[in-house]
Amino acid sequence: MRRRLLLVGGVTLAGCAAAAPMQPGGDTRGARLVAAYPDHLAAVEGDTLVWRDGARMPIGASQPARDFETMLRSATIADQLRQYYVTGPMRGAPPRDHSPGRLRNAAFFERMYGDCRRGETARHLRPVTWMPRTRPQVLLVTTVNDVATRLERVIASLEALPDRFKGYLVPAAGTFACRAVADTGMPSIHAYGAAIDVAVRQSDYWIWSRARGEIPYRNRIPFEIVEPFEAERFIWGGKWYHYDTMHFEYRPELFV
Ligand SMILES: [Zn+2]
Repeated sequence: MRRRLLLVGGVTLAGCAAAAPMQPGGDTRGARLVAAYPDHLAAVEGDTLVWRDGARMPIGASQPARDFETMLRSATIADQLRQYYVTGPMRGAPPRDHSPGRLRNAAFFERMYGDCRRGETARHLRPVTWMPRTRPQVLLVTTVNDVATRLERVIASLEALPDRFKGYLVPAAGTFACRAVADTGMPSIHAYGAAIDVAVRQSDYWIWSRARGEIPYRNRIPFEIVEPFEAERFIWGGKWYHYDTMHFEYRPELFV
């Protein structure tokens, strides 16, 4: 959805249990992160992530899990890898605080895609025509990590679906937007041009439920829509406890 442009603050939520433990083992995690972003990352050395340009970042692997709401606002690179994304049709609602992809280390993504507030992200954006045979709509998507080309392959698969699926997709609610996530105040992947929201009409978003305490899960998006995105390593917000069923973002490091 098009959340408000909000760069500070946000709604404070009720306290939550700690996230699930990391899985699988530490060495595999680091190797998987480097393999997921080969244009940018060179190696993991101990608790340091080494970038191809020589930059070094702390991973934070020795830090124990904190409560989920705290990690949402200050995720380390290790936190970002705590919850893996499982492909395929869902078997029931996501467990409490299982929202693979919501934990994001802001410095990591800003270094990779640029800071939109300084105009750095805009230099990497190019137009992509969303659903050209159904209802053409030009959207700006980053070329970093070939995200724009990957999305075009997703679009080709979505266009091949029967017409009954098209209503979930058009018009898209947007891609690039220099904004923060509504409840955390942290940069959204939309701020990097590496996310897309499909049509709002048949989507569900946890904030709309106005639930207090436990959030009742809701989704109307069929898996046929999700599958082509997963094939190109976009995660789906419909697999989050804090669900956002119109939302897809490129997060190859989370696939196992
Ligand atoms: Zn979104």
